[in-house]
Amino acid sequence: MYVSDILKFKGDKVLSLTADEPISAAIAMLTTNRIGAVLVVDAKGGIAGIVSERDLVRAMHKFGKDLFDRRVSDLMTTTVVTCSPKDPLAAIMGMMTSQRFRHVPVVDEGKLVGMISIGDVVKNRIEEAQFEVDALRRYIAL
Ligand code: AMP
Repeated sequence: MYVSDILKFKGDKVLSLTADEPISAAIAMLTTNRIGAVLVVDAKGGIAGIVSERDLVRAMHKFGKDLFDRRVSDLMTTTVVTCSPKDPLAAIMGMMTSQRFRHVPVVDEGKLVGMISIGDVVKNRIEEAQFEVDALRRYIAL
């Protein structure tokens, strides 16, 4: 299974913000769309950063009640790791575990084509494992 298999079902929609937006805009986007991270893009649509729920918790600790005076640029991670639609899911799972993040934007020939989360990867791996179990059960029952 590959990243492209997830995108076939999930589609290529990527929710994004710009770095100069207030933190309240990031909170609203995460909450209303029930997602864990949002991409930050620059004026040309290029990747400028990523903001996840974890960044918001860190920012609450750092800025306290002044948090709402801050902008997305104050809490985003600017070195964003991306993947390709051709990457195997097992490799992405390993990368998410070793680098301790749960969201990866998907880039194909320089173009943003989707975003996958650890939830997407785990769901796909469970379905794959279940498929194998069912196939083995059918084989044994023959
Ligand atoms: P997450 O586990 O995705 O909530 O993110 C944990 C931390 O890693 C946060 O500081 C995020 O900004 C950061 N992060 C999330 N995804 C990525 C990514 N693809 N590349 C680099 N950093 C990321």
